[in-house]
Amino acid sequence: MKIAGARVLVTGGGSGIGRFLVERLAAESAEVGVLELNEERCAELNEASGGRIRAWSCDVTDAAAVDAALESLFATGFEPDVLINNAGIIHSEPLVNMLSRGERVHSRESWRRVISTDLDSVFFVTSRVVDRMLAKRKKGVVISISSISANGNPGQSAYAAAKAGVNALTCTWAKELGGMGLRFVAIAPGFIDTPSTREALSEAALARLQQHIPLRRLGDLESIYLAARHAIENDYLTGTVLEVDGGLVI
Ligand code: NAD
Repeated sequence: MKIAGARVLVTGGGSGIGRFLVERLAAESAEVGVLELNEERCAELNEASGGRIRAWSCDVTDAAAVDAALESLFATGFEPDVLINNAGIIHSEPLVNMLSRGERVHSRESWRRVISTDLDSVFFVTSRVVDRMLAKRKKGVVISISSISANGNPGQSAYAAAKAGVNALTCTWAKELGGMGLRFVAIAPGFIDTPSTREALSEAALARLQQHIPLRRLGDLESIYLAARHAIENDYLTGTVLEVDGGLVI
């Protein structure tokens, strides 16, 4: 599929990786729809884009809100060719915190919040968008932003489980819907230079981390865009997880 003229729907397009993908795709002449929790970021996108980006305020963990936002989007004539499931939260917490004097066990509330944001949302949005793609006989592409944490990462039970779930859904849907011409690709970033990464890790931790990355640096946002572009343009790619991590998982 060609990017120019494609209609691309991005969740969580208000900051970080999502924001970069939205602006980059719009610059390549895609028409971009955004579902984003943060209303201010939605307003910024709508004002700045000269009509090429349409952002809708929506909490993608809320199935009814997803249905309503998508109905409004479809009613404007926006029929997605590509969906990018990007909205997510990164969360680290040990299964048992041996140093805690109070509750030592991983909070159930944070478990639910991470699974809901990083996994349930992918199911809610993809099921509705794929139904629409099928109704409109589109040979669409669904890209889901996973993480190398899906391979198992100490201190990230919920996040790793959610992202492993995203990879499993990618393979399942590729097999289930490939016959209808739909493709499903996951992109698993390592450590990308975003505000969320810099908030999560101290300068010292970042410096230590980079020693373990074969390329000895964080990834830039362009590297994720290039993977997304490959997923959109290469019509023989499906059911795969593209790791973009400077070699960290090898
Ligand atoms: P970010 O926090 O900068 O951006 C996430 C965006 O999603 C925000 O605009 C936020 O408002 C939105 N969002 C969050 N919850 C939402 C909800 N319930 N409904 C709608 N929108 C919601 O994060 P980021 O670092 O750009 O991460 C984006 C994706 O990439 C996530 O899925 C994350 O797990 C994944 N990822 C990031 C890195 C990294 O290094 N930054 C590494 C691996 C994977």
